[in-house]
Amino acid sequence: MLEIIAFDADDTLWHSETYYAEAQARFVEILSPYGETSEQALAVLHRVEIENLPYFGYGFKGFTLSMVQAALSITAGAVRGEHIQELIDLGKTMSGHAVLLLDGVHETVAQLARHHPLMLITKGDLLDQERKISDSGLGDYFQYIEIVSDKTPASYQRLFQRHDINPARFLMIGNSLRSDIAPVLSLGGYAVHVPYHLTWAHEALTDLPAADGRFFQLESITDLPRLIGKIEKEGASGNEERK
Ligand SMILES: [Mg+2]
Repeated sequence: MLEIIAFDADDTLWHSETYYAEAQARFVEILSPYGETSEQALAVLHRVEIENLPYFGYGFKGFTLSMVQAALSITAGAVRGEHIQELIDLGKTMSGHAVLLLDGVHETVAQLARHHPLMLITKGDLLDQERKISDSGLGDYFQYIEIVSDKTPASYQRLFQRHDINPARFLMIGNSLRSDIAPVLSLGGYAVHVPYHLTWAHEALTDLPAADGRFFQLESITDLPRLIGKIEKEGASGNEERK
């Protein structure tokens, strides 16, 4: 009964937020000589990141520019050129990091691809996402790969129209309640939340739309084939993982 199984990429298939956390720790170190506490420095960085989303979008390039802007703001313009250079280099390192798959991802994706058309839906820098998809070795399992600038109900709606997808036969797996789960539930699709151990504050969400038995949480992506089998067998009737 499911026509498309769709996956988020960052922190669902491969590690990503860990690299941001490492960069933030280094950002705090670089700024420490200027007298700001790490909490204050991170609070400024987070505020600047959110303010910059409409300008730069998601991904490491926007994050790098936000580190530079936050450094200028924190030091009232006094940050030294060499420290700006370090922040830019830090951003460049993020673009070259290894793509490390989460446990069980390769086997699970390969298994599901045998019986279902798979779609990858990811947001962020086009170049960076293309590199990660290629380096992941998973590209061939996906019939459709969609790199979008944001994951809102409107952007999912556009994908549904373009690929002629009935949302009631669409299932999305992802780590972000805000980007992967809430919009899909609001459009009538199935959504499976597989939390990652780190969550960017921007992606956290407390209120989910009414799910009517279409929302599930799993600890590991390896439980997905069993869950999908169950959904397809039982349709919209109850089961123990349903929230
Ligand atoms: Mg993600």
